[in-house]
Amino acid sequence: MSRIAKIYVDSEVRLDPLKGKKIAVLGYGSQGRAWALNLRDSGLDVTVGLEREGKSWQQAQADGFHPKKTEDAVKGADVVIFLVPDMVQRFIYREHVQPNLKPGMDLVFAHGFNIHYRLIEPPQNVDVYMVAPKGPGPIVRDFFVKGGGVPVLVAVHQNYSGRAMEKALAIAKALGGTRAGAIETTFKEETETDLVGEQTILVGGVMELMKAAFETLVELGYQPEVAYFEAINELKMIVDLIYEKGFTGMLNAVSDTAKYGGFTVGKRVINEETRKRIREAAERVRSGKFAEEWIEEYGRGSPTLKKGMEEAEKSLEEQVGRRLKEIIERGKPKS
Ligand code: NAD
Ligand code: MG
Ligand code: MG
Ligand code: MG
Ligand code: MG
Repeated sequence: MSRIAKIYVDSEVRLDPLKGKKIAVLGYGSQGRAWALNLRDSGLDVTVGLEREGKSWQQAQADGFHPKKTEDAVKGADVVIFLVPDMVQRFIYREHVQPNLKPGMDLVFAHGFNIHYRLIEPPQNVDVYMVAPKGPGPIVRDFFVKGGGVPVLVAVHQNYSGRAMEKALAIAKALGGTRAGAIETTFKEETETDLVGEQTILVGGVMELMKAAFETLVELGYQPEVAYFEAINELKMIVDLIYEKGFTGMLNAVSDTAKYGGFTVGKRVINEETRKRIREAAERVRSGKFAEEWIEEYGRGSPTLKKGMEEAEKSLEEQVGRRLKEIIERGKPKS
């Protein structure tokens, strides 16, 4: 059923396809800063393009860049990398990129959203490809500085030059991604799996599961501090074990009581009904319904997003977390 992924490693990839090319990194946030710094450290010619002077502008200057207005960065570029928020990309494209497109230019994305859902429809005479790090921007930078790299997905949407994949891989290498590995995918696969993943596990699922366990323990009269350590803080240690050694490694590190309880009760909490909901979430992503809803929400000033942030900030979990921060920090390994 499932096909075997093509994975590229550092030794098979060359930076040459991007040597001497002018690269404009649009945006200097989570990914933008990591990309601009890693690509520059890899010897590539990077200009940061931003809409206006502000926090990102100052940060870019502090890091030794001379940011330009988006339009000016694009005018001088061979390769334009979109690292502004997904909901902003189509406006930046229409206002500043499209009018300055030259045949043979490269449009590069870190997530397939705008291309897959056709919010940006580039002309035939440019290359369109993606390098999607499978981790947050600050980690992409941190791993690179320490000699490692966060794995990336690479995909080609439009191959005008015939060399789009070589260039995607060159960027993956400059980012540090191929030090781990670059997995070949499609815009559709990256976009849909990324959205389903963040909704059902990484952001939505994990947070709700932690909240459900924490709040239930508190409702049952246990001290919030004790509930916090159990239901929230300790998850990092469990996930670190899974990250380092897989499920088996994690299971080997917990007690037999925990293993037995986990095997029997986990399936009652996360059950067929949960799987049905995950499939529903995937269907909303695949049909484009989720994208439509998010674009509409963004158009109304993102009220749901703002409310979610306010609620998270005010929640008992966050209050307790802030109170325990001192203890947690004090116990972190030194060095
Ligand atoms: P971000 O929100 O951290 O960065 C936004 C940048 O764009 C900042 O420089 C900000 O000043 C600028 N910006 C914000 N609003 C703007 C506006 N209205 N007009 C113009 N500029 C604006 O973005 P990010 O999270 O780094 O995401 C960038 C891309 O990377 C997205 O396509 C995202 O899906 C993808 N991506 C992000 C992550 C991640 O960990 N954050 C991981 C993989 C892929
Ligand atoms: Mg993701
Ligand atoms: Mg995402
Ligand atoms: Mg325990
Ligand atoms: Mg135990």
